[in-house]
Amino acid sequence: MRTLLDLVLPLECAGCGAPGESWCSVCSVALFVPPIAVRPRVDPGVPCWSLGTYSGPRRTGVIALKERGRRSVARPFGRALAGAVGHLREAGEIDPPELSSLILICAPSRARAARARGGDPVLKCARIAAEQLVPERVLVPELLRMSGGVRDSVGLSAGQRQHNVAGRIEAVGVVRPRSDARVAGSTDFTVLLIDDVITTGATLAESARVLTGFGVPVAGALVVASA
Ligand SMILES: [Zn+2]
Repeated sequence: MRTLLDLVLPLECAGCGAPGESWCSVCSVALFVPPIAVRPRVDPGVPCWSLGTYSGPRRTGVIALKERGRRSVARPFGRALAGAVGHLREAGEIDPPELSSLILICAPSRARAARARGGDPVLKCARIAAEQLVPERVLVPELLRMSGGVRDSVGLSAGQRQHNVAGRIEAVGVVRPRSDARVAGSTDFTVLLIDDVITTGATLAESARVLTGFGVPVAGALVVASA
């Protein structure tokens, strides 16, 4: 449906509505910024960085990607996340590639599971980020899943959101980064949790808890926008 509409509707920027491009240069500039440190209400126990507030092209882009099925938004978001990784390395927040292999793990979402047929948009962003970092070999394993029983979190308080996801995020498959994921020549690995929007931090906190429980140390979380 979307593909058919794309053919007949005039192309416009998913960030600002400017005609002619799926993501304009002005909105690209807005994404390519050093990430800011954010402190969500539910502390994930790891540093959290965001490309900016949930406003402007970040907000319209996230809505277009997740609610309107505009998959093309994954490309500018993925490229911006890769740029943010570079900024974090320059700032000394995470290890450089020669010291550490980067692993991007997407936070799971209830809504995304329901749209599994179209694929997880955040996963797509993370995969594009990994492509952008070639020749570095960045792994994007699908490790976390949200189990049944998680309610839509819209309208829930931070505490309710925390309760909503508590014990409901599970690791899928075997998590053995040390043996499976290490890249030749590197001595360590850096795990970054990736998500589109951080609201209360509850999902990232539970994701970090699950990964840590499997012996996977999480270096931080990187998101497109922070509410
Ligand atoms: Zn734009």
